[in-house]
Amino acid sequence: MVFKNEFSWSKSRDGIFRECRRKYFFNHYGFWNGWIASEDDRIKRIYYLKKLNGKEVWMGSAVHGVIEFILKKFRSGEEVSLSHAVVILRKRMESDFVMSKLGGYTGFKTNAHRFFEDEYDIEISEDEKAELFDKAERCLRNFYNSDIFMEIRRTPVEDWVTLEDFLSFDFESTRVYLSIDFAMRKGDKVILYDWKTGKERKSDYELQMGLYSLYVADKLGIPTENITAKMFYLGIGDEGKVDSFEVDSERLEFVREYLRGSILEMKKLLKDISENEAVEDDFEKCEGYWCSRCNFRKVCLEKWSFQE
Ligand code: SF4
Repeated sequence: MVFKNEFSWSKSRDGIFRECRRKYFFNHYGFWNGWIASEDDRIKRIYYLKKLNGKEVWMGSAVHGVIEFILKKFRSGEEVSLSHAVVILRKRMESDFVMSKLGGYTGFKTNAHRFFEDEYDIEISEDEKAELFDKAERCLRNFYNSDIFMEIRRTPVEDWVTLEDFLSFDFESTRVYLSIDFAMRKGDKVILYDWKTGKERKSDYELQMGLYSLYVADKLGIPTENITAKMFYLGIGDEGKVDSFEVDSERLEFVREYLRGSILEMKKLLKDISENEAVEDDFEKCEGYWCSRCNFRKVCLEKWSFQE
């Protein structure tokens, strides 16, 4: 089976595009075929680097993973106690730490994990590690003890809308990907939830919630005035805070316009739009603020000169 790198859009893709064009190229074009053993070493290296995770992002996905596990168990009629959930979370995190240090990660599909910090010799001290674990546990406890989780448990599972990993919808011939943490029906309304373990800029949040709403309106045919999107902050500082986003047609039009503009900007840089073909040199390096936290330094910046 031959895979084709089809053009698509997602909020994270847009975020990378705004940070650095070259990073965007590596992340969406340069890695392609890097899973094939006979490919060029540099392409395989880009593929490898693409999947590294920084400690904060990793902590957030660990919490999201365990919340998803709890909800899936609950949907199938099993209750996971808070203490059990905390044990699972800490075990998963510990195992990722060990695996990253052992260096078993190759970029190919395995359970092995690699920290950005380990790849670039940035020390994560024992204190920082303990702080990350505590932060994650606190987020999980905040979720478990929240009114929102209570409300979810009171809602019949038939009214839960989706817990799938990757969702997509067609926007004017472009596939748009997103993931929704949780959604449920309340009468003729739909409430969408997003769990936040870190800070979010208001503009990002509005875009994300607008995308969720477009998805629900498109897939479920729910009128926009019946959709509410809620962002639930689990992290320290904002813990327990809930931001609600009431959807109206004006806001959705803003999101549609944003999507159109972003897709156009991305496509303008392609060598061949219909084949979704890109050339590395057409994507400028930012060489600035974003480089210090960029996965691709080893293939991009001279001082890290790529070595196999
Ligand atoms: S190292 Fe810097 S210039 Fe290179 S891709 Fe990353 S952010 Fe862009």
